[in-house]
Amino acid sequence: MVRLRFAPSPTGYLHVGGARTALFNFLYARRMKGKFILRIEDTDIERSEKEFEEGLINALKWLGLEWDEGPDVGGEYGPYRQSERLEIYHKYANRLIEEGKAYEVYAYPEEIEKLREELLAKRKAPHYTREMLEKFTTPERKKEYEEKGLKPAIYFSMPRKEYVLNDIVKGEVTFKEGTVGDFAIIRSNGVPIYNFACVIDDYLMKITHVIRGDDHLSNTVKQIALYEALGWEIPQFGHVSMILGPDAKKLSKRHGATSVEEFRERGYLPQAVVNFLALLGWSHPEGKEIMTMEEMISVFSLDRLGKNPAIFDPKKLKWMNAEHFRNLDEEGILKVSKPYLMKFVSEEEIDKDKKWFVRLLNAIKDRVEELIDIPHLIEFFFIEPEVNISLSEEVKEVYKKLIEEINKIEEWNEQKIYQAFKNAMKGSKVKGKEFYMNLRIALTGREEGPELIDIVYLLGKQKLISRLQKHLR
Ligand code: GLU
Repeated sequence: MVRLRFAPSPTGYLHVGGARTALFNFLYARRMKGKFILRIEDTDIERSEKEFEEGLINALKWLGLEWDEGPDVGGEYGPYRQSERLEIYHKYANRLIEEGKAYEVYAYPEEIEKLREELLAKRKAPHYTREMLEKFTTPERKKEYEEKGLKPAIYFSMPRKEYVLNDIVKGEVTFKEGTVGDFAIIRSNGVPIYNFACVIDDYLMKITHVIRGDDHLSNTVKQIALYEALGWEIPQFGHVSMILGPDAKKLSKRHGATSVEEFRERGYLPQAVVNFLALLGWSHPEGKEIMTMEEMISVFSLDRLGKNPAIFDPKKLKWMNAEHFRNLDEEGILKVSKPYLMKFVSEEEIDKDKKWFVRLLNAIKDRVEELIDIPHLIEFFFIEPEVNISLSEEVKEVYKKLIEEINKIEEWNEQKIYQAFKNAMKGSKVKGKEFYMNLRIALTGREEGPELIDIVYLLGKQKLISRLQKHLR
């Protein structure tokens, strides 16, 4: 059975890249009827925050990426928060030391930094060797550490050889000998370094596939070396290309909203966001664009993960959101729009007059891209706009007649309203276009908006007459 995981560090919001990684792992786990695991990688104590962890969890849930095992739901291979697994990492670090594959380092950070500068000054890659680092291990230094209550860091002795990775996405990737030097696996404060904790956890949690961004490739070689040193089988790796902005530069804040949280706030539907993310580096076998989660699960495969960088196009996301919004049924549209309607009316009013609100949303739904557009689109129904137009005498005459015709209507429906329009215009020189456009402006203060018939129907007799009368004096 396949087991995949998403392993975020709680040092910020869930951004597009992370969400896409989570989604690909989720889709494959579901497709293969395997397990999807959430692991919180909170070993960067200074930057990790509980609040970010909660934010990540909420954002993932909102997207509909539910996990089978994780810090909140537990599971057979827990704990799922790295800060709660420190003993486990020490156990394996000690094993590596015993086997001569790792060693203690009694150097202060500034000494390591100096070593690095010296290497760079000699135009050498800043790769440390055991020889360089063990020089600091003197009896005096050990005593000093003991007196100060300090612990040595633990470094992994990186074998100097070539590593070849068979990547699901990239194919064969060769890491030449000497790509990396020895590296820390446990800091002197006892906290493991990401590459080490990640390997231990992926192994103990029986992870079969690791799908992640290709910015991790330089970590992967270290991780492969650790797997080998520990005598463990390497999971299947798939490194997906980075997401670029529309200008083909690495996606960043400069490009606008990039966190799931922001999209949620702007009124994107989770199904639209998930659909959009899936197509950043993956494609449907028949090129289908608009898909539900179920559809994506049913056709997802790793061999369709693309090698080329994906371009994040905010316009496409808007389009997808509009499509998913329109595809909802009436109840669905009402439900997701409610928070925006409530800028003007209470929830009770909406529930009481449900039919009218459904009709209202139906009239504007084709114009919605981000749900935060809704208040602007419907504002004039609730707040009478200030309108400055001067109508010709002919048009005024026709509108006076229209009011009479409207007043006669007993059963308020579209057909009757159309008939009233026709009757009002009958025998007049006023052109249809003039009649409709001026009426639209008089009622809404705008030249654009829903169909006029919808506006009139939804405003109702009283509002229609009172708004129109103001321009007839
Ligand atoms: N905590 C790492 C990150 O957020 C996980 C990388 C991985 O998937 O191994 O980048």
